[in-house]
Amino acid sequence: MENRVVQGRMVTPKSLAELIEGDAVMDAEAIADADRDCPDCGGDVVEVGYMPSVTEFVTGQKCQECDWATTDRE
Ligand SMILES: [Zn+2]
Repeated sequence: MENRVVQGRMVTPKSLAELIEGDAVMDAEAIADADRDCPDCGGDVVEVGYMPSVTEFVTGQKCQECDWATTDRE
């Protein structure tokens, strides 16, 4: 398990994906460091690939310091 600290809370890949998605997810891959800084606060950004449903795979990014998050959805 590659847990990380996001906004002062320890997250697992799945709980990080659920933070980004705002809903439950089926599965999530390991958390990785995203190759960018947060556009809002300049903080470190982590990235996680996850499946919100059986037919969808999304890569989400989340700032470790503030509320900023995004996904690769169109
Ligand atoms: Zn931020």
